[in-house]
Amino acid sequence: MVIGELEARKQIVYYSRKTHAQGLVCATDGNLSVRLSKERFLITPSGIRKEDVTIDDLLVIDSDGNPVGDTRRPSTEYKVHLEAYRRRDDISAVIHAHPPKSIAFTLTKTPLDTCILPEVVVTLGDVPVAPYATPSTDDLPGSMSDLIAVSDVVMLARHGSVTVGATMAEAFKKLEKLEHNAEILIYAHMLGGAQPFSHQEIHRLQGLRDFYGIQTKVRGCGCRPEWNDSKAACSGGEGECRSPGENPEALSPADLETLVDEIVRRVREAL
Ligand code: 13P
Ligand code: ZN
Repeated sequence: MVIGELEARKQIVYYSRKTHAQGLVCATDGNLSVRLSKERFLITPSGIRKEDVTIDDLLVIDSDGNPVGDTRRPSTEYKVHLEAYRRRDDISAVIHAHPPKSIAFTLTKTPLDTCILPEVVVTLGDVPVAPYATPSTDDLPGSMSDLIAVSDVVMLARHGSVTVGATMAEAFKKLEKLEHNAEILIYAHMLGGAQPFSHQEIHRLQGLRDFYGIQTKVRGCGCRPEWNDSKAACSGGEGECRSPGENPEALSPADLETLVDEIVRRVREAL
């Protein structure tokens, strides 16, 4: 959804401050942008505290990252933003943040898309991690390009997050959920760990994603090493999603109950 420049300025200011207020960036970390048209993007300047951003601080860049009628420097991560817009016609907002709990997962190589919480599976989906690349360099957009093409949330190893959406509100919601999920996973881990959903439940949740019109598939759940007998089976296909000891052909307890009810009903009818 492309919006007018003044509205875009107001939204970037609002969400810049919110991102700082919620501890999702620190000091001058992070950057936010909105697509104004095919060739024009509104973005935060480099080196500004996100709590201090005003509508006049923001600048317009073209699709090569050159400031339009401006001598100030755009965010040094403008290439990450432009790469996300280049790969995704469906998005108009990008937030790069440094959410601390989520970043810690990349430091310990612990998956964030653990398929444990229903609303995370439904609204967040996969959380792929791009290999480390030096911030602000040309390597960084290359490291995340193929991932952002298929996922609304990408972690940049040892660095931060990139979340995208049709609107700033959508991109921020993903960022907020990402960090909240990381916090819950840390608590669960401290309390002894959590069991992932069965493969049947993931299929049900995928059905909800379809219901909400979310285009991307949840693939990460098919790729949990602890769910698969061998790495060879871990191709990311939905059908390979199973928890330890789970028979992939077996019905979930809920499905079994429905089946038993149906059998009882038919037997009674036949009597
Ligand atoms: P900028 O201040 O240039 O936007 O950079 C912040 C940042 O997060 C770098 O990765
Ligand atoms: Zn950064």
